[in-house]
Amino acid sequence: MDDAHEVDEALVDEAARLLAAARHTVVLTGAGMSKESGIPTFRGKDGLWTLRGEPPLNQYQTFRQNPKRWWERRLEQQAQPDEFATLLCAAEPNDAHFALAGLEACGAVAHVITQNVDNLHRRAGQRALTEIHGNTRFMRCTDCHTRWPEGEVAINVEDLPPRCPERGCDGIVKGDGVMFGEPIPPDALERCFAETLACDLFLIAGTSAVVYPAAHFPQLAVQHGVPLIEVDPEPTALSELATVTLRGPAGELLPRLLAAVSALQAQR
Ligand SMILES: [Zn+2]
Repeated sequence: MDDAHEVDEALVDEAARLLAAARHTVVLTGAGMSKESGIPTFRGKDGLWTLRGEPPLNQYQTFRQNPKRWWERRLEQQAQPDEFATLLCAAEPNDAHFALAGLEACGAVAHVITQNVDNLHRRAGQRALTEIHGNTRFMRCTDCHTRWPEGEVAINVEDLPPRCPERGCDGIVKGDGVMFGEPIPPDALERCFAETLACDLFLIAGTSAVVYPAAHFPQLAVQHGVPLIEVDPEPTALSELATVTLRGPAGELLPRLLAAVSALQAQR
């Protein structure tokens, strides 16, 4: 018997009833969602940073000081991708991503805030999505914050860094992934606050809820009396606040939740 079978069906049903009854459910996801797609987590026992050390905390400052140098390094790394870049490139959405997109499609989820930069929610068909730490497949203007899929901004190796093509902007373009020391783009932050303040149910999946500001949103929801569903194999920083805890991998539990919500909706 695997772990998921230890999660009582009654708990799944309880969470499904909350989802089916809510008007506006907001979800926060983290690295645990993508683990089953072969992408290593950063923190925790076998995390990439636990094994290799954290990246420098002044990453963004270094970029601002010499964006040309940063772009040259990026292009070099793209020509010779490291292990993590290769895993990121090969990763496919898993059952957890598809189930979450299914919960949106049936109206049970209104918005997803993800800390993941791997593009997998988007590829699974999630539509209402805030990528609070950016997306490695996108570019972003540091001035006007416009984002473009990689490839839509022309990169001239003779004239780095690339400049924003929006009319009258000319800001420096960087990768969309939020660096250490870089503020979260204000439009992403505003959207997260607006969604959280509008929600009547919050669900966290595959996140230990220790990284801020992301971890602040479920806390804010709970402070406003909103019930919290937690889906994670391990206890998280928010476990004590959870109304329903589903202890197991998102790749097994989210599909069970989707099936239970669909069954409830069919009874109506
Ligand atoms: Zn711009």
